[in-house]
Amino acid sequence: MHDSCVFCEIIGGSSPASRIVENAEALAFLTIGPIREGHALIVPKRHVVEFPDATASEFAAIFGLGAEVARRQRRALGSKGETLFLASGAAGEQSVSHLHLHVVPRHEADGLDLTSWWQKRMQQPDRAALDSIADRLRVRPGP
Ligand SMILES: [Zn+2]
Repeated sequence: MHDSCVFCEIIGGSSPASRIVENAEALAFLTIGPIREGHALIVPKRHVVEFPDATASEFAAIFGLGAEVARRQRRALGSKGETLFLASGAAGEQSVSHLHLHVVPRHEADGLDLTSWWQKRMQQPDRAALDSIADRLRVRPGP
């Protein structure tokens, strides 16, 4: 529990949410700002803030529950796919400072049109540039 964290309040039951399902380390509920009907958030029960801060066990719980929610969306809402989204850190435009995975149910030609958004922003680095960045990423961070 973390002071003034709305997701911790939802987990603890002191703030309302349209809950879907939970497991030992994660909870799924509907976002109050959906971009499609059934748009769910999966949160770790521990107050984890950013993506690199979660444990492997929490990721297993979050993504396992996300897959369960996707199966339920497909069965109950007739969705045919999902788009997952996770923003981390202020630079990553994270909106609530408690890690959350978005599971957006998708239908064919549902108008979200993420591909054109993505393609307009794609860079075209050559192999040398990619290899240079990969070299930097292979160096393990210090303690
Ligand atoms: Zn929290």
